[in-house]
Order: sequence, then structure tokens, then C-alpha cells
Amino acid sequence: MAGLMPGLMQDWPLTVDKILDHGARWHPHREVVSRSIEGPIVRTTYGAIHERAKKLSNALLAHGIRPGDRVATLAFNTARHIEAWYGVMGIGAVCHTLNPRLFAEQLVYIINHAADRILLADICAASIVEGILGQCPTIEKVVWLSDDGHKPNDLPGVAYERWIADQSAECAWGDFPENTAAGLCYTSGTTGNPKGVLYSHRSNYLHTLMSLQADVQGLSSADNVLMVVPMFHANAWGLAFSGPAVGAKLVMPGNQMDGASILELLETEQVSVSAAVPTVFQMLLQHLEKTGARLPYLKKVLIGGSACPEAIIRRFNDEYDVEVLHLWGMTEMSPVGSVGVPCATVAALPYDDQIPYRLKQGRVPLGVDMKLTDDEGKLLAHDGEKFGRLKVAGHSVAKAYFRGDGGEILDADGFFDTGDVATLDELGYMQITDRSKDVIKSGGEWISSIEIENIAAGHPKVALAAVVGLQHPKWDERPLLIVQMKPGESATKEELLHFLDGKIAKWWMPNDVAFDSVPLGATGKIDKKHIRAKYEGYRWPEAVAAE
Ligand code: ADP
Repeated sequence: MAGLMPGLMQDWPLTVDKILDHGARWHPHREVVSRSIEGPIVRTTYGAIHERAKKLSNALLAHGIRPGDRVATLAFNTARHIEAWYGVMGIGAVCHTLNPRLFAEQLVYIINHAADRILLADICAASIVEGILGQCPTIEKVVWLSDDGHKPNDLPGVAYERWIADQSAECAWGDFPENTAAGLCYTSGTTGNPKGVLYSHRSNYLHTLMSLQADVQGLSSADNVLMVVPMFHANAWGLAFSGPAVGAKLVMPGNQMDGASILELLETEQVSVSAAVPTVFQMLLQHLEKTGARLPYLKKVLIGGSACPEAIIRRFNDEYDVEVLHLWGMTEMSPVGSVGVPCATVAALPYDDQIPYRLKQGRVPLGVDMKLTDDEGKLLAHDGEKFGRLKVAGHSVAKAYFRGDGGEILDADGFFDTGDVATLDELGYMQITDRSKDVIKSGGEWISSIEIENIAAGHPKVALAAVVGLQHPKWDERPLLIVQMKPGESATKEELLHFLDGKIAKWWMPNDVAFDSVPLGATGKIDKKHIRAKYEGYRWPEAVAAE
């Protein structure tokens, strides 16, 4: 624009290699501890990770990897996976994280769509790799994240340790525009084919700064962070960037996420902060209940990915003096969207009165904007009552999917429709009431499946609860509650419905209860597509009774 005066500050592209450079230079001895896939707990430092990531960059360059090429990882959270991220991104290549829990067909689709050239894989993913490799012609080389002694010998590929051993630890990173692509992650494809979200260095760097706000993750160099959220999905909520950015100790669970394994790391590494989906913490709490163990070091847990039930928030607070921060986000948002750190008004309330706010998904940090609209795009009031489509904008929100899949994804004001249905209240707290495809449409009104699930999951005998809307001759759809009981427990339908009585509107009351296992999808969320398919054509009790 004519007449604008350029500022005179340094040209310092916001590229993520600078984050690990900083960690290695200013916190070189700070530890990164992993439960290795081979078994033992292994310890390294930001200094050593930096050096080895540079060796990996040189191995990739020697193979012929160039800026923009996709290099895939199929791996759990370990220090080697962190080296892989920075080693790939540092040279301007794109780190494509693959979720080992996806079905083989989805992995094949995603790898071919991304045209990945190299696959860095955990040895525990050997059978997955064996099953898909023949269908992935773009993959030129498999690198097993292990040493010669542990790599699978009956499959092609080289051991990571051998591959990087003779490489130099000198490699120029960065020095490209900050809008260069850094990472690629596909959404799980609960609707249609998976779509690729292509993060840039700038979006990841700014997301890191945003996440470090006290009202978001609020990490400090004194924190020991157990990063359970996987690096293969939605950037591990940015923790693999914010750890080295502040010099926090990172602790990683490898592929062991059961209660006992998590507790061991919490204790031995004196973990102060952890982050995971609700099911992981549910397993931890069950384990604590069984063993009577305490959590003397843990101060704060970040819980998101699906709605956090009240029982988890209460038990962490009341029994273990651990603060739960509920957060919401999605792959398309890098992923952080909102966090439930109490604002001044809420913090001033007695704890019991804070609960309704703590159950909500929180408020936006600087860098995210949010709006609520009806189906026609008309703005809805922030009254905490009206449900609408939740739309977002920000420096770390996708503007298009990889290769243009899905076409135009922003509205006229540049907002992305999250596919979530939510309310916003006067204090700016957002609450997800459903995913738009899961909302139950009963007699022209909407019922929130999530709200019923949260309450049902609080029943002391219930392990997992899911609610889906199924066809109903009179009401269009009605809710069916599916409950998976805790081991050894049983209950009647009446007992569970009675538990909901008075806690939800009468017309939200599920028409029936099914005792069944609740399937979880590849990202730990309840797999409603699966449930709907299983219960298709379900016959409601009144229809059966009328026969
Ligand atoms: P997918 O790949 O399944 O789309 P994401 O991991 O990107 O998965 O999931 C994002 C979605 O997860 C959000 O749109 C929202 O529906 C759900 N979600 C995330 N956090 C929460 C939360 N705290 N409460 C309720 N739902 C959540």
C-alpha cells in the first residue's frame, strides 16, 4: 500500500528450527525422558537431540530429500520422534505424522495422497508397515526408529541409529520463508476421506507462543511435562515445540499408556504437568483408586480431544489437589482453540460454583477468534443458551486442505466452520454441545449427545457412555444411551435413567439403554459412526411392545 513506512526491525523468519536451537543453546542439559519402544526408560537432553536431529537432516539430504518433500513418521512419543520432527522440518521438508491406530486402508490412502518419500517407523509398527508397504509406491525407504539389534530383520529398511551414525552434526537449518510448509496431519476422516492439514513454520511458531500464555498451557522451564497426547495426531497439542521453547523437561510414554505405566513416569520423573484425552486420565484414576497411590508432584493436567466428564475434574481436584484445565481444539487449528483457565470472575467463585465453567471448553487466547452462527450464517447471541455453528479464525487455523480437497473452506469473513455445535456465554466461555453430525434432532429441536454422555459417565459403575440419535417414527430421532460398565459391575436400565433424572431436560431422556462396549476411534474419541452402523434399524422398546 502506497505511503506505508516499513519498520526497521530484524528480518527473523519464524521457523521452528529456531525453537530447538534455543532449547539446545540455553537449556542444553535439560532432560528428555522416554519410555522407549524397546522397553527401557531412556534419557537424553535438548543438546543431544539437536545434534542427532542435524545428523538426521544430513542423512535425509544425502538420500535426496529436498524442501517440500514429504517424510512420514509412524511413531509414538519418544525422543527419536522429536529428532525426526526437527530433522525433517529444519531442512524445509514436510514432516507427515501418521497415526498407527488408523486402519491400513486409511494409511495407504493418506501416504499415497501425500506422496511420502521416506517412512520413519517405530519397530512396534512393523506389522502395519508390512501390510501397507506394497501399496505405497512413493515410499523409497523405511527407516526403523531403533538400532540394528532391534530392527525387524524380515522387512526392508535400515535402522535409524545406523543411518545417522556417520553423518555430520553440522547442518544449516532454516533460512527459508516462514510460510514454508513444516508439517502435515490428516483429519481422521469421520466424514469422507481424510483431509490433509498443512502447517507452516510460521503457524507452528506462533502457535507455540500462543500456547505458552499463562492462560493456555503456561509452561515454564521448571516444569516436568508428561506428554501423553500423541505426536502423530494434531501436533501433540504443540508440546513438542513448547517444551524446548522454555526448556521444560519432556517425559514421553512411548506406546504404554495404561494407568500403571503413566503413574510410574509421574512418580519417577516428578511430573508437574500432563496432557491427554479423558480416557487416559480415566485409566489413571482407576489405577490410583485400586492401588491407593498418590500424586505428590502433579499440579496440573490439560484434558481435551473430547469432553472432560465432571467426575474427572472433581476427583483430580478433591482427592489429589490437581487442577484440571479443559481445552478444546482440532487438527485444523494446530490444534489449540480454547482453554478453561478460570477468568477473574470465575476464579472469584467458590470451587463448586466454578464447576459449570470448568466443564465448558474455555475461552479463546490471543491468536484465535470465534463466532457462533445459525445455518444461514447469522450471528447468534453469546447468552450461553443458543446452540450454533462454531466458526474460527486465526494465525494457526487452516485456510485450505492439502491439494485443495474439500474446496473453499472459509466463509466470506475468513472463518472456518469447525463442524462443532456450541454455545458462547457472556464471559466468553465456549461449550461444545455436539459435533454437527452427532447432534440429535428430535421433533425439530436439538439434543446434545455430549451433555447426556458426560452425566452418564459420572455414574460410579459406568466406565464409558455414548449417546447416539437413532431413527424414530414420531420424533425423527431419539437418543439411545450405550453404556460400558466398569469390570465386574452391572446395573439396570431403570437405575441409569433414574441417575439422569433431574439432571437433563425431560424430553432429552434416552428412550432406551444398551449395555455394550463403547468403541473408541483412532484418536481416542467415541466412534459414533461405528455405533450408528451397529444399531442401524434399532427397534425402540415401544415398537417391540406394540407387536
Ligand atoms: P478429527 O481428526 O477426529 O476431526 P481432531 O482431533 O481434530 O479430530 O478432533 C477435533 C474435534 O474433537 C473437535 O472438533 C471436537 O468435536 C472434538 N473435541 C476436541 N476437544 C474437545 C473437548 N474438550 N470437548 C468436546 N469435544 C472436543
